[in-house]
Amino acid sequence: MVFSIFSIVGRRDCIRTAFRLALEKLHHINKRNMCGIVGYAGGREASEVILKGLQRLEYRGYDSAGMAVLNDGMNIIKVKGKVSELAKLSKKKKLNGNIGIGHTRWATHGEPNEINAHPHTGSHRNFSLVHNGIIENYDVLRRNLEEKGHLFAGESDTEVLAHLIEEIHELSDIDFFQAIQQALLQVKGTYGIAVVHKYHPDRIIVARKGSPLLIGVGEGENFVASDASPIIEYTKKVVYLEDEEMAVITRDGYEVSTLKNVPLTKEVHELAMSLEQIEKGGFPHFMLKEIFEQGDTIADCMRGRLIVHENRIQLGGLEGFVDKLAGARRVIIAACGTSWHSGLVGEYLFEYLAHMSVEVEYASEFRYREQLIDERDVMIVISQSGETADTLAALREAKRRGAMVLGICNVVGSTIARETDAGVYTHAGPEIGVASTKAFTAQVTVLTMMAMLLGRQNKVLSDAMMKELVKELNNIPKKVEEILKDTSVIEEVARLFTYAPNFLYLGRSYNFPVALEGALKLKEISYIHAEGYPAAEMKHGPIALIDEHMPVVVIAATDHTNDKIISNMEEVKARKGRLIAISSNGQSGVGRLAEFNITIPETHDSLTPLLAVIPLQLLAYFIAVNRKCHVDQPRNLAKSVTVE
Ligand code: GLU
Repeated sequence: MVFSIFSIVGRRDCIRTAFRLALEKLHHINKRNMCGIVGYAGGREASEVILKGLQRLEYRGYDSAGMAVLNDGMNIIKVKGKVSELAKLSKKKKLNGNIGIGHTRWATHGEPNEINAHPHTGSHRNFSLVHNGIIENYDVLRRNLEEKGHLFAGESDTEVLAHLIEEIHELSDIDFFQAIQQALLQVKGTYGIAVVHKYHPDRIIVARKGSPLLIGVGEGENFVASDASPIIEYTKKVVYLEDEEMAVITRDGYEVSTLKNVPLTKEVHELAMSLEQIEKGGFPHFMLKEIFEQGDTIADCMRGRLIVHENRIQLGGLEGFVDKLAGARRVIIAACGTSWHSGLVGEYLFEYLAHMSVEVEYASEFRYREQLIDERDVMIVISQSGETADTLAALREAKRRGAMVLGICNVVGSTIARETDAGVYTHAGPEIGVASTKAFTAQVTVLTMMAMLLGRQNKVLSDAMMKELVKELNNIPKKVEEILKDTSVIEEVARLFTYAPNFLYLGRSYNFPVALEGALKLKEISYIHAEGYPAAEMKHGPIALIDEHMPVVVIAATDHTNDKIISNMEEVKARKGRLIAISSNGQSGVGRLAEFNITIPETHDSLTPLLAVIPLQLLAYFIAVNRKCHVDQPRNLAKSVTVE
């Protein structure tokens, strides 16, 4: 027997059914994991329902919280940090009232501090608004409003929306609901919003586009929330809002209409899920949920940056720094773990698309080396959390020696984000699974956009090539969804090799780092020894390991090295290795050689890592589940490594 596998056949069907179901529900639950909203209108103390609800939403990760309660007027409280702090403040301020809204913020625009925390108001503080998502055109809107005399307290995109609503409402004779409608029609981006107005103290106005919202239907009370976890203890009846729908919620009912004012009759659903299932979006693990979010997170990462109709890239975070970056003698990318792998993809991208010389360093090694870095060089540090100790140390050292330092981080306002000269956020939303998945694809997306921008700046990327890349990059989210639609071959491979003691991952060019990342995922969550290698290097050592027991995963998705990788596969096959290929649809020669051929949609060579990594994440996941490993919190690992 090669591997004892067949005991898990029953489990496999269970898993498959579980996550098929989850996938169907994902659409309605919390697909976009920006942060949390809860609102209440009824007979209870609104602040109590809201605080409890915000606690239920804490699992999403957040950096600040706030709420507004209507009474004789409107009381707003906000804190940087925990909901428990908000609860203390609420007690102190005696926030009484039966209608209100609350929010946990995971900052995308503007530092996590009290000012940028939601709810936001306009200049006259007549209403307050909470928002999940990203207002893509906030910058233009803000400048227009500033010209009209609006003063902004902070930097968040949400505050701009609040002022826009105020401007429209005060300058015309339309009612408040219509003013929100008009404002939302001017907004580009994604939103789930809830608004209360002190002169309409019986209602919450809500709207959504791209960020989930649902209405909880009670008796003599109604709720709104970004997922069902805050309301499930009060009611199981929910109405899911769809994109471009709005609603007015009072204690006695709710009315739903489209953004263009067409009234709608909505189906009321009965919730059948437990609290835990809701938190995970119906998926058995956060990691799986995050893998499945990647179509959306890549789209979020490109939002307002990939300007398709103008064929260009716009990275606001790098404004004023692009010349220096493009003219750098050398670019040094410093990172750890998965971020180091995305850095390696970045190296290929910068070289190929922008003709720039790049070195990728383990941050932990760089900091103790003889650092030949000075003001002629640029360092790019990559870290999901923005707190990775070694990466931070490398950043500080490079800065001390005069280099410009740029950051690619997911967590807004993190130490790395603050200490770098400039940077680009990945906007992937909070990542809870310890093994990084969506942060990796978002980092690679940022690096791709940077390379394209630099290629244009350096005049080495032709119009035609830019056009093709823009088009292809724009299609990546759809292609990711396509891969996720059918995971049966990956599950089959996982079933067969669940008890393999070793794995080898091979790739070339852009997909060599993907091989490293695939091996790392397997090690992290399945505790199986795995090595990633450049395919051609195999013959300088690892080939000695290959026999009929060795699964060899070959990422064969890069066209310009297709012939070479086919030869490498022949070499594995000749030694009876068990070949598992990741190949592009229609790629010749691979299917004939591989025992399993997992296909991904075709795209430009340089973009294949964004697709090829997805089956590898899933393979590691399914194997870990089969081995009953603790997928979301693998042993010995921490989500953010803040020690040396
Ligand atoms: N973009 C908004 C902000 O940065 C909302 C973020 C969220 O969804 O929590 O404040």
